[in-house]
Amino acid sequence: MAKDLYESLGLKKGASETEIKKAYRKLAAKYHPDVNKDKGSDEKFKELSAAYEVLSDPQKKSQYDQFGHVGGQDGSYGGGNPFSGGFGGEDYEDIFSSFFGGGGRKSSGRRGPKRGRDIEVSMTISFMDSVSGIKKTIKFSAYEKCSSCEGEGKEPGTGYDTCSSCHGTGQILQQQQTPFGVIQTQSTCHSCSGEGKKFKNPCKTCFGKGREKKEQNIEVNIPAGVFDGALLRISGKGEAGEKGAPSGDLLLHISVKSSPSFTRDEDDIHSTIDLHVLQAMLGTEAKVKTVHGTSKIKIPAGTNHGQTFKIKGKGMPKLRSNSKGNHIVHVSLDVPKSLSDKNREKLEEIAKDLNLEFSNKEGLFKKIFG
Ligand SMILES: [Zn+2]
Ligand SMILES: [Zn+2]
Repeated sequence: MAKDLYESLGLKKGASETEIKKAYRKLAAKYHPDVNKDKGSDEKFKELSAAYEVLSDPQKKSQYDQFGHVGGQDGSYGGGNPFSGGFGGEDYEDIFSSFFGGGGRKSSGRRGPKRGRDIEVSMTISFMDSVSGIKKTIKFSAYEKCSSCEGEGKEPGTGYDTCSSCHGTGQILQQQQTPFGVIQTQSTCHSCSGEGKKFKNPCKTCFGKGREKKEQNIEVNIPAGVFDGALLRISGKGEAGEKGAPSGDLLLHISVKSSPSFTRDEDDIHSTIDLHVLQAMLGTEAKVKTVHGTSKIKIPAGTNHGQTFKIKGKGMPKLRSNSKGNHIVHVSLDVPKSLSDKNREKLEEIAKDLNLEFSNKEGLFKKIFG
C-alpha cells in the first residue's frame, strides 16, 4: 500500500494546515535533489511532493481523510494531468473520480470505466396533455460521447501502454506486517482503474475521458394516460460513460396539473353536472363535457342528487393499451332559491295533490290553511 501521506511528511493523521506546510518545507529542503545527492533522496522528494500535493489542497485533503487512500497520486489519467487539463468547471464527482482513478465514491470493487450518471429532470404538464400525450424537448447540460474519439478516450489509431503501477495486472498486492504475521491484500489498481493499461495518446479533446460536456436537447414522448407523479426512465439518454462505458439513463419526474373540470381515478375521469331539480324529476337529455369532446346522456325521470352515470370509453387512455377508461358523471341538483308567485302557486298545487306535510307554516301552508 502506498505509504500514508501524513506519515510521508512525518506527521500524525489529521495534522493541521500549518503543521503540514511546516513539515513539507523542512523535509523538502532536506531532500531536494539539488541539495541532496544521496541515493534515494530523489524518491523521497517525490514522495514528499506527492503527499503535499494532496494535503495542501483542502478538497483533496478532505477526500483523503474521508476515504483513506489514494491511487492515482501522480494525477495521471492515461498520461495527461486531469488537473491541468482545462476541466475548470468539473463537479465534485468528476474531480473525485479523476483523482482516485475512476473508482468513484461508491467504490464497490467494480473495475473499469464508470457508467454515465443518470440525469433527473422534473416536468409539469397540463391535465389535457396527460390525456393526449405530448412530445417535449428537454434541455440540460451533460457529458456526451466525445466527438473526436467517439468515446474511446484515445487519439484514433493509437494504442495502449501497460500500466506501470500494476504491470498490467490491474491489481495491487500489499503486504502488511502485523502482530499475527504478514497479511497480504489485493486491491484494484487506481492508476489504471484495474484495466492494466493506459492510453498511449489520450484524446486531446476530452483528455482521455471519452466524453465532453455539452448542451443536450432530448426529445421525449410522454405517453397518453401518464399519471401525476410518474417516473419515466429513458434508457441511455443520461450522461455518457467514461471511455466508452455505457451511458446513464434520463429520469423524468412528471407532475400533472389538476383540471378545473375533471378529476382522475385510475383510468376513469369524473366530472359533475348541475341539473335543475325539475329536470331531474321529469328526466331530460344532458350534454356532458368529457376529455374526448361532448357526449349526450339520458337523465331518467326521478334522478337523485349524487347519482352517477357512466359514459363508456371516454376516460383516460390506458398505458400500454389501446383502450380507455370511462367517464363518470355525478349529478348535482340545483334547487332554485326563489320562485315567481305564479310558479309558487303551481308547485303548491302539486304539493297539495301529493298530500305533503310541512312544518313550516310561514312558508307554503300559510296560504293553504291561512
Ligand atoms: Zn475524446
Ligand atoms: Zn494499473
